[in-house]
Amino acid sequence: MKSEAVKILQDLIRIDTVNPPGNEGRAARYLGELFDKEGIEYQLVGEEGRENFVASLGEGKKRLLLLSHMDVVPVSEEKWDVPPFAGEIKNGYIWGRGALDCKDLVASEAYTLIRMKRENVPLNGTLIFAACADEEKGGTVGAKLLTDKYKDMIRADFAINEGGGEYIDVMGEKLYLLQTGEKGPAWSRVRASGVAGHGSIPTLADNAVVKVVRAVKALSEYNPEIIVIPEIKRLVETYLSLRGDPRDVTPQNVDEIIDSIPDQVFGEGLRSKTRMTVSPNMIKGGSKVNIVPDECEAEVDIRTLPGQDESYMRQQLEPLLQECILDIIHSHPANFSPADNTYFQLIEETVKEVLGTVHCAPYMLAGATDSFYLRGIGIESYGVSLLSPHFPSELIKTVHGANERIDIESIEVKTDFLYRLARKYLS
Ligand SMILES: [Zn+2]
Repeated sequence: MKSEAVKILQDLIRIDTVNPPGNEGRAARYLGELFDKEGIEYQLVGEEGRENFVASLGEGKKRLLLLSHMDVVPVSEEKWDVPPFAGEIKNGYIWGRGALDCKDLVASEAYTLIRMKRENVPLNGTLIFAACADEEKGGTVGAKLLTDKYKDMIRADFAINEGGGEYIDVMGEKLYLLQTGEKGPAWSRVRASGVAGHGSIPTLADNAVVKVVRAVKALSEYNPEIIVIPEIKRLVETYLSLRGDPRDVTPQNVDEIIDSIPDQVFGEGLRSKTRMTVSPNMIKGGSKVNIVPDECEAEVDIRTLPGQDESYMRQQLEPLLQECILDIIHSHPANFSPADNTYFQLIEETVKEVLGTVHCAPYMLAGATDSFYLRGIGIESYGVSLLSPHFPSELIKTVHGANERIDIESIEVKTDFLYRLARKYLS
């Protein structure tokens, strides 16, 4: 029975939804065919060819939303050991673009509704499933569109989405990270103008590249304020207790603690969650070796913590820019759902029911997902795309990389979790 979710995942991988251009409508229509067979109602909404898929089961005041996205990022095919769009199963893994981000969750959520419908589970509420377009390019025709124009279809008390649900190993114990919040992206441009001139007499001109390079260097050396928000404090303190080293975590000792964490991915992840990060990643200027450039710009990926608004950013960074100007190109604030409510409790309880003796902690993502849009319309959103305790955590690196794959057991765990959660909350 459960291997049906695996088959759905294989089928979805075979439907190319690389964004851009997306073509998510193909995956939405595939889901439509599945749901037609089961007699589950659904709608395709959004831009032609890039439709979002929204289905629901049952009715009633209580509402639970299962969200995911159908689009994937491009591939460098030559780096893969298997064809990325074949949906092959090899050595217990389903391989292909989207296997972990996020067609695994699409398949598990779809199958959860199918299973509930087949078993005629009596519902005293509504279970909603929304597979979105466009997550990988900001969600304009996906979750943003749904939360702007189709609120009533997806309205829910709380939602399960991607962006958490993996574990870290602490002295042989598994600590599961359940996402309750995300940092805020503030992608910015730093630019300078100067006076063009001949490269042979540079002192007659005013070099814009040099100005931007100075600013970029200063930004790269920026020393951010260290802040330990309550969620990160709880996470690190849980981690330390499991390590047999219980301690109060403060802004003063958090870096020393991070330095002592052997899992570098987890450690540096925590470092990024205890401060605003500033990463100058692109620079563009100059046209010819003998012309002093009069224009130059750099793009900087800035990620903020709660409370760090535009004025905070400017107050922190503008003194470093000297002759350059900072424009914010795309930003939204850090956003959270509570970790001390009954929804989080129910999620934690269900994770433990599925996985046995594991530990859980709230978690903040340094990146951004569609949960931002859900939280914006008052839907508490939790990132729990649950993975099996046997899934080798180093494979998380294959997300957006080569040889993306997921083990069959993780698909079973994910599906089991969603099914139990929906039953508990709605029946
Ligand atoms: Zn994703």
